[in-house]
Parts: sequence; structure tokens; C-alpha cells
Amino acid sequence: MLELPFNRPLDFEPSVACEAPGEAHWLVFRGDQLLVEMGPLERPSDDLRVRARPAWACLPLQKNHNWLGGQAVRCLYLGVLQGKQIWAAELPPEAPAPGEMSWQGLRTLFTVLDDAHFALAGRALQLIDWDRTHQFCGRCGARTEPHRTERVRVCPACKLSAYPRVAPAVMALVKRETQLLLARSPHFPPGMYSALAGFVEPGESLEQCLAREVEEEVGMRVGNTRYFTSQSWPFPHSLMIAFVCDWVSGEIRPQAGEIEEANWFEVLQLPKLPSKISIARKLIDAVVDEMKSTNDV
Ligand SMILES: [Zn+2]
Repeated sequence: MLELPFNRPLDFEPSVACEAPGEAHWLVFRGDQLLVEMGPLERPSDDLRVRARPAWACLPLQKNHNWLGGQAVRCLYLGVLQGKQIWAAELPPEAPAPGEMSWQGLRTLFTVLDDAHFALAGRALQLIDWDRTHQFCGRCGARTEPHRTERVRVCPACKLSAYPRVAPAVMALVKRETQLLLARSPHFPPGMYSALAGFVEPGESLEQCLAREVEEEVGMRVGNTRYFTSQSWPFPHSLMIAFVCDWVSGEIRPQAGEIEEANWFEVLQLPKLPSKISIARKLIDAVVDEMKSTNDV
């Protein structure tokens, strides 16, 4: 089992209801920014979207449950990590950071914040977004209510249940002899290439999704599909499921609008790759290591 950022920490016990709110670590968001106590900005990141990172950062630890003083738009109990309660809250868009704290984008805090807290921040970001967008019933429009023991909002009028949404997406790394197929989406930072990826459609399996995505995005057929691992991805609410597969036939034909450029790269001459925050990098690194260890390259 590979450890990846955003997957549930092993010693975290999720829960919905808290009988006695007490001392807790707080995941407070304003939009997609997290409230942290942090040191000076100095270290660069391997994520091209992050220019500067703090030397260190930590979550506010508060004894008083009402420390936000009624500012919070919503407040959710997440559970217990290492004996400490974990709470999530959302503040209004213009809310100033209290005291010596500051607002930081989540990507900036990768490896700077405690790993377990970083993972729970990804969970909190998704749950806050779900809570915000499911205040009213999607069927009859009545105001929904949180369930007491389950993470679900229920409509009191028509009983429709709204669970947190998770959108599965398949990632495919295509191999051909000593080469890997890597592509650029138009929204990638300059020079960066990654494996192919796409969302699962209603009515298809993961393997069917993979075959369709590869065909649509680069016009190829692949086979020998092997599962790698999966990662929760909170931007905004995905589950990334990664596979390795072998090229079977077809020449590169990039899909207009989706793929800016796609190329075969020699394993020993790879371009700029995604940050270690993502499963894409873990997948590419693992396949490269395997090919090197078996002297395929
Ligand atoms: Zn309803």
C-alpha cells in the first residue's frame, strides 16, 4: 500500500457527531485558503504553481470551542486524530486572519504542514464545499438538514439524501518499449507533462474509461492494463485511480482543446513532471524505477 498525500491518515478516526467539543485542531478555510500559523516564506516548491513556501506551518490548536466568535459560516466535526478532536470551519470570503495567523493555499503547505493534518485539510476542503452546495434539496428546493450520525444532508420534505460527492477519474501511463507517453493539458504550467487522465462516465468500468480516454485524447489502443494505486484529490472532489498499460496500435493524434501536446519520451530523458503531491508523479516514478531495475532502459 503506497502512502500518498490526501489519503486518510492511518490513525484518524472519522466521525460526524461530537458529544463534548473540547481542545481541537482547526481546519479553517476562506475559499480554498487554509488558516495556519507559519514561519517566514522561503523554501521553493517542486510544484510549478507554488512560488514560495513557508519554512514551517501548523494548524491552530484551540481549547475554547467558540474561538471564532460566531464568524464561521459553517462548522463540521471531522473526528479524532491521535487523541485530538479535528474540526473544520468556513469563514466569509473577506475574513481577516486572526492574531498572528495567515491564509495559505493548500498546495503551498505540502510537506510544510504535518502530513496527517495536510491530508485532513484536503478532506475538510471537500466536506465544506459539499455542505455549502447542499443546503437546499436538489429535487424539491426545501432546506436540507444534517443527519445526526451519518455524513449526509437530508431533505425533511421529500427525504432525498445528499451525500458528499466523489468523482472517480482514471489515470493512464502508456508504455512502449523504453518510452512513456506523456501529454500536456492547456492548463498545465509551461513545460510540464503528465500521464493521461479523465473522468469516469455513468455506465462504464474503470478499464472501459481508460480505453476510451486514451483513444479520445491521443487516438491509440492500449492493452495489458495493470492497476497501480489510488489517491483522494480535493481539487475539487476526485478519486484518482491510476493504471499502467502497454501501447498496442495507433500514432499520436492529440484531441483538440483537451491535449495541447503529446509525445513519446525516453525514460532516461523525461521532461518536467508534476509535483510529488500527486499520484501522477508517484506513478511515473514507480514505472521508471521498475524499468531501470529490470534493465529495460
Ligand atoms: Zn426535497
